[in-house]
Amino acid sequence: MTGTFTTPSAQAGGVVPFMQAALPCRCPRCGQGRLFRGLLDIARSCAACGLDLTGQDAGDGPAVAAIFLLGALTVVGAFLVEFRLEPPFWVHLVLWPAVLVPASVVTMRIAKAALIWAQWRHRAGQPR
Ligand SMILES: [Zn+2]
Repeated sequence: MTGTFTTPSAQAGGVVPFMQAALPCRCPRCGQGRLFRGLLDIARSCAACGLDLTGQDAGDGPAVAAIFLLGALTVVGAFLVEFRLEPPFWVHLVLWPAVLVPASVVTMRIAKAALIWAQWRHRAGQPR
């Protein structure tokens, strides 16, 4: 392990609270270093505390979260737009991809960070 610890919980080998790690997409141990390199790739290690992140895998969970959450919201939104505004069809073709692509990335980043935080939290007390 390299780097320096920056928080008391990181010094104790613990885990920072959910709101400090998952929502801002930060390291689950120290809450300081970035969890991602690029849009959705997990960094190899935390730049702040040196936590090895290469074994962290959220699997398909983030995609499922994005599909269920954004799918439901989009159906409701599409019906509302259609029945209240009655726009031409091309408005739907332009509007929904413009909303869904960035919303999908944000949702999957937060879901991935939340799952990795939960994995780290439940493994933190186990001997390595
Ligand atoms: Zn860290």
